[in-house]
Amino acid sequence: MTAQTFYNPASIAELLDVLDKFKEKVVIVNGGTDVVERLQTGRVAPPPDAIMYIRNVAELDYIREENGHVAVGGITSYAEMLSSPLCRQFGGLMQALAEIGSPPIRTIATPAGNIGTAAPAADCNAALMALGASVVLASKTGERALSFEELFSGPQKTCLRRDELIREIRIPVNKTATSAFIKLAKRKAQDIAQVSACVCLEAEGDVCKNVVVSLGAVAPVTVRARSMEALIVNKTVDDAVAAVRGFVPSEASLRSPRNKAYKEAVIGVIVGRAIKKAHAETAGRK
Ligand SMILES: Cc1cc2nc3c(=O)[nH]c(=O)nc-3n(C[C@H](O)[C@H](O)[C@H](O)COP(=O)(O)OP(=O)(O)OC[C@H]3O[C@@H](n4cnc5c(N)ncnc54)[C@H](O)[C@@H]3O)c2cc1C
Repeated sequence: MTAQTFYNPASIAELLDVLDKFKEKVVIVNGGTDVVERLQTGRVAPPPDAIMYIRNVAELDYIREENGHVAVGGITSYAEMLSSPLCRQFGGLMQALAEIGSPPIRTIATPAGNIGTAAPAADCNAALMALGASVVLASKTGERALSFEELFSGPQKTCLRRDELIREIRIPVNKTATSAFIKLAKRKAQDIAQVSACVCLEAEGDVCKNVVVSLGAVAPVTVRARSMEALIVNKTVDDAVAAVRGFVPSEASLRSPRNKAYKEAVIGVIVGRAIKKAHAETAGRK
């Protein structure tokens, strides 16, 4: 670690002042589960002049429902979300969070950090994309919102400016939709996804009416698989599951030969499982 200055702001205003002053030369530490190791091994570019620990900004720690969405603050942890009655309505999100790391990791790590790291296999990002979530970014010059489809520009790259804070994640409330997340990994815990999928489904009886499919670990960024959604809409659940089996969506871009055949073979299988699981939840709500 080379940074000379450590900041520990207590308010959003103070935090934004530091971001504005240092821009790309300050690194935000939230839960620290990704970035501390990168700092320790000198893998943060450019080398920072300052480190800013943001976990004492109490204004950023909340989960509340307002204006048709559930709002999650920029330092809220996975554990807080997992125990929140407001988040429980998002089945796919709960399933994704329960598969992240282990209880100690989930206690300190955050969805804001998952966005900041922008790993192609990030579990929370895949779930939030399928749920149509957006992110509110704040800087000294104001705020803007980006959808999850707009957020990522490459592996470990986001469209955030270096003076911007992930202030809030907004998850739209949709009482007619259900969702499910499936992750394939080599181990049950403490492992990143080989492939992951989240499906958000609105069904009428057995027929899939609206669907969003997101995929992790099949492209340089988390992707929305619109080509797969087109195969699912207006089909019965069984027909949709049959249609996606063996289908390789155009949004998957697996350039490396490592695991390519395996990944292509399992995408349709796990999307099919997620469709069934989301639909079963629809039935359970009646
Ligand atoms: C043992 C272990 C197991 C793991 N398992 C999984 C797993 O199963 N699935 C998975 O997806 N990930 C996993 N991870 C990765 C990691 O835990 C997640 O990506 C987590 O969401 C990171 O959150 P954090 O708060 O610790 O982020 P940090 O490490 O604090 O930050 C990550 C990045 O985001 C930026 N950042 C953080 N918060 C903000 C903010 N509010 N505004 C602007 N930028 C911000 C930081 O500057 C940094 O660049 C694992 C990590 C470990 C160590």
